[in-house]
Amino acid sequence: MFTITKAKPERGIWSSDQPSLPAPGRGMVMVDVIAAGICGTDYHIYTWDAWSAGRIPTPMTIGHEFVGRISAIGEDVTGFEIGERVSAECHIACGKCALCRTGNAHICEKTEIIGVDRPGAFAEQVEIPATNLWKVPDAIPNKHAAVFDPVGNAMHMVSTAKVTARDVLIVGGGPIGLFAAAIAKAHGARTVVLQEPNQARGAIAHSLELDLVVNPRDENCRSDILDITEGRGPDVVLEVSGNGAALNAALDIAAPGAIVALLGIPGGPVELDLGGKVVMKGISLIGITGRRMFETWFQVEAFMLKNPDLIEKVVTHVLPAKDFEYGFKLMDDGACGKVVLDFQTSQLKEAV
Ligand SMILES: [Zn+2]
Ligand SMILES: [Zn+2]
Repeated sequence: MFTITKAKPERGIWSSDQPSLPAPGRGMVMVDVIAAGICGTDYHIYTWDAWSAGRIPTPMTIGHEFVGRISAIGEDVTGFEIGERVSAECHIACGKCALCRTGNAHICEKTEIIGVDRPGAFAEQVEIPATNLWKVPDAIPNKHAAVFDPVGNAMHMVSTAKVTARDVLIVGGGPIGLFAAAIAKAHGARTVVLQEPNQARGAIAHSLELDLVVNPRDENCRSDILDITEGRGPDVVLEVSGNGAALNAALDIAAPGAIVALLGIPGGPVELDLGGKVVMKGISLIGITGRRMFETWFQVEAFMLKNPDLIEKVVTHVLPAKDFEYGFKLMDDGACGKVVLDFQTSQLKEAV
């Protein structure tokens, strides 16, 4: 089968022809992948940054956000049928620890992630525990169903930060920032401001009809954010850039008592003025990872069914999987929203 693989420990990503997977094991299901999204995580693995080099064994088939159809079912799996269309939670938690047993499986310390710790979804087939599957309603098209995972990251962040009737600043306009902006608006934020230096991503943010889109390189950026929040600064900051300077600027402008949710992963340690910008202002810093299982999935499904136009604006590219190098180049240039790879074009089985 065709796969997209991190073949060796250096910058780059390669296609590889691998044997089909054996029949699924106990509790497992085989899914024939229809489409899969390229995530920031995949991009980190492509560039082979310090995080990837310390985490990913090679060779590794990458990819973790996908939609597909069940093609084989292992022993002891009930409630699923061959041919059903599914997405899946890519974090395979242990299911036994105290965190898993108290509704916090997204921070289980024994989590394995497909496409990171075990073979992923940039392949014609992926094997996944049945307990991780999510049945996709017919009304959600494949190109949207492929991105349940990043919409889930955004949903988890927005839900945790409690944005209703608040002034919200989103720092970073990649796909998760764009999804978060759309979700924050839908959750009744008083104002939604998105900050992004890249012009192409700024243009996508404009198409979401937010209250304000600002460029941090523009000298009016700070005063424009203060104007729209009537001088108070944002009550909620959603940090998805992973940029230390941007985080410091956001903490500086945030209103006292603000909730600052952090999802972007910095490339290394970040220096913060904790005394002046966090302690004395009574700021709450919250780390956001993954999705709540499966509360977030119910929320994302409802959001996708109600707002297909917003998902459509952020998913800017659907490419044949064989053109994956172009997809990674688009991400390198920041010239895109979400890029989805179509794994079935060659077989013409199903249009994405
Ligand atoms: Zn992802
Ligand atoms: Zn666990």
